[in-house]
Amino acid sequence: MPLVKQIGCYTLMLTLTLGSCEVLAQSSSGEPDARPGSICTPTTSSRSEPRTEAEQKERERWAAYREKLQSYLPLLPREPDARLAMPVQGARVREVANTFGAARSGWRTHEGQDIFASRGTPVYSATSGFVWRIGQGELGGLYVFVVGPGGRRYYYAHLERYAPGLKEGQKVTTRTVLGYVGSTGNARTTPPHLHFGVYSGSRRTCDYKVIDPLPLLADRDWRAITVNPARNR
Ligand SMILES: [Zn+2]
Repeated sequence: MPLVKQIGCYTLMLTLTLGSCEVLAQSSSGEPDARPGSICTPTTSSRSEPRTEAEQKERERWAAYREKLQSYLPLLPREPDARLAMPVQGARVREVANTFGAARSGWRTHEGQDIFASRGTPVYSATSGFVWRIGQGELGGLYVFVVGPGGRRYYYAHLERYAPGLKEGQKVTTRTVLGYVGSTGNARTTPPHLHFGVYSGSRRTCDYKVIDPLPLLADRDWRAITVNPARNR
């Protein structure tokens, strides 16, 4: 086979492989990990045909989530938040030990910050926005994704339970409780904590970014919130 053709085939194979990795990684974990250093190729609908009915269903589910995400964008400010309100009730920014980028099992690195608190401590949204996804994954356990200004996604994982009545598509503010601190998913053997992740862009458009939330986090006046808590709609 001529060299050019070979390179072409290799690129195609890589694209397809990465494409299905993305689906698998997201569906099994809920935490959208990317293999570091992977080559990005913008994609639209150039994926291989689904091999099983389950794969087809999974793709449809993701397509629906992508569509929903797009539908929230015009309703949100364009500029992402410069500051994020501390999501764990009573926690202080200075108490968060920086573990962003720390090595994890396999090729993964820690794509977020862990905020430790007693089991059942309320977790508030760090931004205003919309509840994009409520789900359960092998790594993240019970998780909630919120999409905020600029299309940034905020990932709240290892929850003990969700806030009662929380729904996908629900509008949230920094006074909305999303759930409660727990140790679900791969945090089973660790003390209860919130895993807080921040993502922007998309692998499809090659501007996907994992953002360290710690420099953006700001303390809040918990007395004002806990004395007069907002009611979830
Ligand atoms: Zn974590």
